[in-house]
Amino acid sequence: MSDRLPGFSTLAVHAGAQPDPTTGARATPIYQTTSFVFNDADHAASLFGLQAFGNIYTRIGNPTNAVLEERVAALEGGTAALAVASGHAAQVVVLQQLLQPGDEFIAARKLYGGSINQFTHAFKSFGWNVVWADPDDIASFERAVTPRTKAIFIESIANPAGSITDIEAISTVARKAGVPLIVDNTLASPYLIRPIDHGADIVVHSLTKFLGGHGNSLGGIIVDAGTFDWSTGGKYPMLSEPRPEYHGIRLQETFGNFAFAIACRVLGLRDLGPALSPFNAFMILTGIETLPLRMQKHCDNAKAVAEYLAGHPAVASVSYAGLPSDKYNQLARKYAPKGAGAVFTFSLKGGYDAGVSLVSKLQLFSHLANVGDTRSLVIHPASTTHSQLDDAAKIKSGAGPDVVRISVGIEDKEDLIADLEQALGA
Ligand SMILES: *Cc1c(COP(=O)(O)O)cnc(C)c1O
Repeated sequence: MSDRLPGFSTLAVHAGAQPDPTTGARATPIYQTTSFVFNDADHAASLFGLQAFGNIYTRIGNPTNAVLEERVAALEGGTAALAVASGHAAQVVVLQQLLQPGDEFIAARKLYGGSINQFTHAFKSFGWNVVWADPDDIASFERAVTPRTKAIFIESIANPAGSITDIEAISTVARKAGVPLIVDNTLASPYLIRPIDHGADIVVHSLTKFLGGHGNSLGGIIVDAGTFDWSTGGKYPMLSEPRPEYHGIRLQETFGNFAFAIACRVLGLRDLGPALSPFNAFMILTGIETLPLRMQKHCDNAKAVAEYLAGHPAVASVSYAGLPSDKYNQLARKYAPKGAGAVFTFSLKGGYDAGVSLVSKLQLFSHLANVGDTRSLVIHPASTTHSQLDDAAKIKSGAGPDVVRISVGIEDKEDLIADLEQALGA
């Protein structure tokens, strides 16, 4: 064996996987089983007491899911990961380990529309209070810190406009406040940005998007960077205090730099229950094998489409960080030098009605609420994903009435441009 560390594309194909020890199967099998036989009573007791690692029940862990967890942890440069049923489930499980009722977390205002809803409504009912900050104004994060702040949440490439967040600057604020920085890396994928290299303590993904990549399976994942000291100041009792359900062990003391991933599994997933089906784990693993190839093509196509739109007379403006004139281009060059992603917005001179008309005329672009598919997708956020927000909040989150969002697929770019040409011109 050479002692060279494997590169990103090699990890995307191999990390976490071995030929199946009993059958020799080379692709990772789908372990479609709910439960696993114990060797004997002592083995069972040690698994339940967290004294040994092993399979018990698929709500807590499954061998197919374990390959996916190891692979994404390797691609993100984390110590461990936990796969769950969806991106939203990942967010609930993460924050449940960090917040007690009455606590606060600071979130960037530019987020996936579903996350804005989840944070504003569902989390409020748990007593977790979101405080919004502006990712373009780092001082707004500093001003939002209070003694009850337990975490900061941002997107690396932010929905819907594809703006680039200054992860290092916000990680400095988090460090000063003594709270972990959580980065939703869904739109970038680790191929474009590895937030842990820039100071993130926890990375979350909707695997539903670019990692799975084919628009066929929901999933989410939590990656533990292993960087945060959970024992400081008694702020994170789930990690630092004795756990009554596990014979009084303290998770940080016992599991060290992967204690957060363990907490998410043995407290969060075990009790809240959003387990990922092994079938979806298999589909997502297969998608990840081609992540580097797909992601580069997504980015190259997105840049060509953005350049075309920027020159079209019906288009008022294009927000794509990969364009040299874009206000996020500097940050894109620093954080995402291989490409600025494939999700971005543009605005139409004809306003709301032009947006609605465009989505109805496009043929190759599918009009639907998803991103990160091999297929090109389009949506008019003001009439759909962001329709619950009032006008001021729509504009603040980058989803004004004249704004159209696209997720550029991996088709031939000439065909995508021809489709836009007929829809904008007609
Ligand atoms: C889709 C998405 C989510 C939510 O993920 P689901 O898998 O749909 O639950 C969270 N964050 C971002 C950036 C997303 O695009």
